[in-house]
Amino acid sequence: MTTISTSPPDPGDPVERARWLRDQLWFHNERYYNDDAPVISDSQYDALMQELRDLEAAHPELRSASSPTQIIGGSASDRFPQVQHPIPMLSLANAFDRDDLEAWHRRVTDLLDGQPFRMVAELKIDGLAVRLVYRDGAFVLGATRGNGQTGEDVTPNLREVESIPHSLHGDFPADLEVRGEVYLPLDSFRRMNEERARNGEPLYANPRNTGAGTIRQLDPEVVRDRHMEIWVYSLNDTGDVPMPAGHWEALEQLGFYGFRVNDANRIFDTVDEVCAYYDRMLGERHHWGYEADGLVVKVDSLAQQNALGFAGREPRWAIAYKFPAERAVTKLRKIKINVGRTGSLNPQAILKPVAVSGATVQHASLHNEGDIHSKDIREGDMVEIERAGDVIPHVLRHVPTPGKKRGPEFHMPERCPECETLVVKVEGDAMHRCPNSACPAQFFESLKHFVSRSAMDIDGLGERWCRILIDRGLVSDVSHVYGLNMEQLTELDRMGEKLATRILDNVKASKQRPLARILFALGIPHVGAEVAELLTSHYTSIEKLAEAGIDELAGLHEASAISGVGPRIAESIVNYFVTERNWKTIIGLNDAGVELLQKPVVAEVGEQPWLGRTFVVTGTLSSMTRREAESKVKALGGTTSSSVSGRTYRLVSGASPGSKLALAERLRIVVWNEDEFLHFLEAPFSLDEKSM
Ligand code: NAD
Repeated sequence: MTTISTSPPDPGDPVERARWLRDQLWFHNERYYNDDAPVISDSQYDALMQELRDLEAAHPELRSASSPTQIIGGSASDRFPQVQHPIPMLSLANAFDRDDLEAWHRRVTDLLDGQPFRMVAELKIDGLAVRLVYRDGAFVLGATRGNGQTGEDVTPNLREVESIPHSLHGDFPADLEVRGEVYLPLDSFRRMNEERARNGEPLYANPRNTGAGTIRQLDPEVVRDRHMEIWVYSLNDTGDVPMPAGHWEALEQLGFYGFRVNDANRIFDTVDEVCAYYDRMLGERHHWGYEADGLVVKVDSLAQQNALGFAGREPRWAIAYKFPAERAVTKLRKIKINVGRTGSLNPQAILKPVAVSGATVQHASLHNEGDIHSKDIREGDMVEIERAGDVIPHVLRHVPTPGKKRGPEFHMPERCPECETLVVKVEGDAMHRCPNSACPAQFFESLKHFVSRSAMDIDGLGERWCRILIDRGLVSDVSHVYGLNMEQLTELDRMGEKLATRILDNVKASKQRPLARILFALGIPHVGAEVAELLTSHYTSIEKLAEAGIDELAGLHEASAISGVGPRIAESIVNYFVTERNWKTIIGLNDAGVELLQKPVVAEVGEQPWLGRTFVVTGTLSSMTRREAESKVKALGGTTSSSVSGRTYRLVSGASPGSKLALAERLRIVVWNEDEFLHFLEAPFSLDEKSM
């Protein structure tokens, strides 16, 4: 399992612990919402979130508006045009058992001064939330949730979801907005994986993330081929629609307009009724042809909903009553050791294949030697595993088999299974580690991390290519990525010129990443995204950070204390910079032109307000040549491309634009005419507010 930092800090230090939990949650949010590829199960994620909530409740000084407990985990990728949500798309509070549900019911009753209220119970579909906008009955816009305020315009893809009506039926209002969950039906998911198995390709992990990834990729035909579906679950009160008195009635209304509304929805008066329905749904969950991870229970009356309002990122009038994670018992064939990016030796359970919630499970995570000992797990045992959120299952416990002789107790190997270096175990660190920073397994993980979206974001250079570049001897240090050229790439089997160009463009663009991203990309143990941000608010270059001593970093010198960077993080940073190999990386990056400096947050004239945005100029402009227009874009930090793709931020279109304009329109990319372009050249900082 890849995580940003495999060994958590001492739970006794609330400041460091909270920081570690936040970093973990940001990291997993990025994997789950933005990459659509989580690396831990939902129940593990929920446990981290719950611990942070408890910690913030017990230590109010740790609360912060930017904590993952307070904000929605996703963000809107710049692969798509961005859309503001007039009504934020929020999250839901969770209930994990009947007690939690009753506590929620009591809270609502109190807030409503004892008024009775009805509840609508719906299946909580495990898919991707979308907002659909209709004008005069025609579907005009479909967007993802993104960060709750700003989502991605994925209209062309949503047009390929058959159950999203292109035009409405009946007596619909002129302006209508609804929300629903788009999902990949289990049948389609199985078919896709069968085909991948036939082609010897790695299988998709689960339908939720495969479905979300399908809507967040750029080819609408892929959506059509995968037969995605939607359940619509709310009518937005935009002020333009006559709203019914209750949510139940709104759902009925949505059905009349032609939306697909789940007929499993029910309305109830009591918690007992909701719980009986929950039990029934739990029993039926494998027969629906799609995944649901619980019920959503909502107060029916819209007047009562308005009175209850929101708390942080969650409505008070609704709660997700989650289904328990699914479990199974199977044989633990072997404990395999994988070496992680920071050299941690991560044990993995190799299991006798077993079916859990419709998928065959063969591997599960075991955290570390201490965890294996505390659960008394040995090779050959029968073990209980849990598959929650259907990602990587974990081993819960050893299931005793009376009369059966057990294998020997498990011990970590003395030498790294990849490079044979003697393994070290430092007191206070739960993990055993390979100390050889040149260990090939560590380097593979480091490279994967370096190019990943939340680090240097070198799109196109995925896991497979990282492996190939290492095997071919083209990259043995992350800085070598900057020395790759067209010839080397196109010589690789199945690497076409198009992909090679994309990779090289992205490598070049990555030289401008903010200092915090570069620091995070270096993979210094315990320096996650949040710590990296914090450090770069004090140190404006890698060089300055490298000069800081442990005392200064750990905040022991009052004058330069950086709250939250404890001795453990400080030691890790100092150790990183005293290692010769790491200096070689830094020098290599510097020589390649990667800017190892803090870039100003507020750009001044002559600086780069359009950084990270790709423009395409087409047709004939009257006031300048295309090349001059491109130079002006570059002078403001933007990049230019000769072809329109989902990565294009704006198309600047002069006279006789040709096919680029048609393609931009199909991809719903904002097109500027020459006057608009000139306007934004004059006022480059107003790009975001005025051009959405
Ligand atoms: P949430 O669980 O708070 O619920 C809100 C979402 O529920 C809505 O956005 C909508 O998409 C969905 N939904 C489905 N059916 C619905 C219905 N009938 N009515 C209303 N909404 C409905 O969602 P969240 O904030 O996106 O996610 C939090 C959950 O996601 C966590 O509890 C965790 O399980 C999972 N998660 C997992 C990881 C990981 O790494 N495994 C990372 C991040 C989040």
